[in-house]
Amino acid sequence: MKMVFLGPPGAGKGTVAAKAKDYYSIPHISTGDLFRSNIKNKTELGKQVEAILAAGSLVPDSVTIAMVKDRISQPDCEKGFILDGFPRTIAQAEALAEMTELDAVVNFVISNEEVVERLSGRRMCPSTGHIYHVKFNPPKVEGKDDETGEDLIQRDDDKPQAILHRLEVYTAQTEPLIKWYTDRGLIRNVQTSNSMSPDAVFEETKKVLK
Ligand code: AMP
Repeated sequence: MKMVFLGPPGAGKGTVAAKAKDYYSIPHISTGDLFRSNIKNKTELGKQVEAILAAGSLVPDSVTIAMVKDRISQPDCEKGFILDGFPRTIAQAEALAEMTELDAVVNFVISNEEVVERLSGRRMCPSTGHIYHVKFNPPKVEGKDDETGEDLIQRDDDKPQAILHRLEVYTAQTEPLIKWYTDRGLIRNVQTSNSMSPDAVFEETKKVLK
């Protein structure tokens, strides 16, 4: 199954993808995670994109497309994959269509107010990538990763000034993809809200993918 998870930042794409990858036995490819790991490892790519991520802007299409092309050509992607955070522009969607044929695009729908509440409370473990929310999905021990016990961090781009910019970027550049994929018969909508647990959103996702 080849899938794209679409939706604004904070819609829960990464949290659901972490569950879906085990359920469908396919890799979860988050372009944001790939960039963050390059930044952490101080690679050339990491140095090139660090300031862009901190500001909440988009990495140039050419760079992002090349990275995804390389990743989905790996043997573990033969049976399928979940792309989380890619494509984010029409040019990326066109490039992806040339690389492979998708089975579905899951569009996570959430209001702007709820997105702001989610992003500002989001915390993550820098090494495992596990995502939490101080209110909606807290770790077992406050501020610590459930698996490793490491200190959780707040992403720079989850701080207030970057959140608004990311939402503007989403509306201008990424939202048009909903129509683009609807026109191609691929969109499956999943309505989410802050009162739904990650498991409940995952159940809805499985339903629309049946
Ligand atoms: P995410 O973890 O998906 O919210 O992505 C974090 C950041 O990585 C974004 O705000 C962008 O700076 C960058 N990024 C991730 N995916 C893409 C993409 N498909 N195109 C351009 N930039 C991206």
